[in-house]
Amino acid sequence: MLTKAKKPHLPLGDHQTAPWYGKDILSVKQFNRADLEYIFGVAHEMRIMVERIGTFDLLKGKILANIFYEPSTRTASSFMAAMERLGGAVIPISEVKYSSVAKGESLPDTVRTLGCYADVIVLRHPEVGSAALAAQYAGKPVINAGDGVGEHPTQALLDTFTIREELGRLDNLTVTMLGDLKYGRTVHSLARLLTQFNGIRLNCVSPKILRMPRDVLDEVAEKGIPQKEHTLLDKVLPETDVLYVTRVQRERFEDAAVYEKVKNAFIITPDVMKAAKKEMIVMHPLPRITEISMDFDNDPRAAYFRQMEYGLYVRMALLAMVLGKA
Ligand code: ASP
Repeated sequence: MLTKAKKPHLPLGDHQTAPWYGKDILSVKQFNRADLEYIFGVAHEMRIMVERIGTFDLLKGKILANIFYEPSTRTASSFMAAMERLGGAVIPISEVKYSSVAKGESLPDTVRTLGCYADVIVLRHPEVGSAALAAQYAGKPVINAGDGVGEHPTQALLDTFTIREELGRLDNLTVTMLGDLKYGRTVHSLARLLTQFNGIRLNCVSPKILRMPRDVLDEVAEKGIPQKEHTLLDKVLPETDVLYVTRVQRERFEDAAVYEKVKNAFIITPDVMKAAKKEMIVMHPLPRITEISMDFDNDPRAAYFRQMEYGLYVRMALLAMVLGKA
């Protein structure tokens, strides 16, 4: 999984020995607890710096190629903002139809090309394993920004950072994942990452046809995390510390009629949330469609908009790390 470190340009005297310098970020499986504490520490410093001075020159002269073969609002723009807040520049390729991809260029050739111009590549692609493939060909570190229904590691890092900043801990928590657990890549990454913490209990609540994939359940079970699957939220909501809501991923369904049947399976409203603790948070990777009613947005437990802001700090930390500056 871990590809060998690459060498983005670094002026002499810079931190060639920084632990994440030149590394790809492809899966949450790469991180142990100490790595996570390190990332959260850097992200926390980034937050303080942004709040104090907004933009600073840590990555001045560095270039990010931001390549998105699938739609994105938060991931694409937060990586761009992260690079610019660190004083770097961005090559944005969000409309691959305007690039040579539209002429039939392969992913390896595209990333090989961008690797010549940029110091780091962020890639979102509809196929599982695409980031790992890109990492084999790009001469620069590749950060997986979502590979189909596979993983979304930077989202899981920002999700865990959110829990830490909001609840002050990552141990001894009951986490309930709700919605489309089959196609939602963020929950695949988050469930795996949560195995690094102590005293986690996991509830997976979904319609039967959108259950968490077997391999993720098995990996979580192997790490000794107690987990239960449910089709109803009622039973587990009162014990939940983190309710992680996901949208039903319409674009991944082969049959539109099946999507129609399950699209409104769960809707979080102020009324539903009466049964939940006062001290807990509701998260969502966004975009939200109908699964959380807008009436709930002003509840202090609604953490999903704060969550997307934390994403900026985590992505700033990751860029600084792979470019040898943290
Ligand atoms: N933005 C997240 C993702 O790219 C969640 C979603 O699309 O539902 O996976």
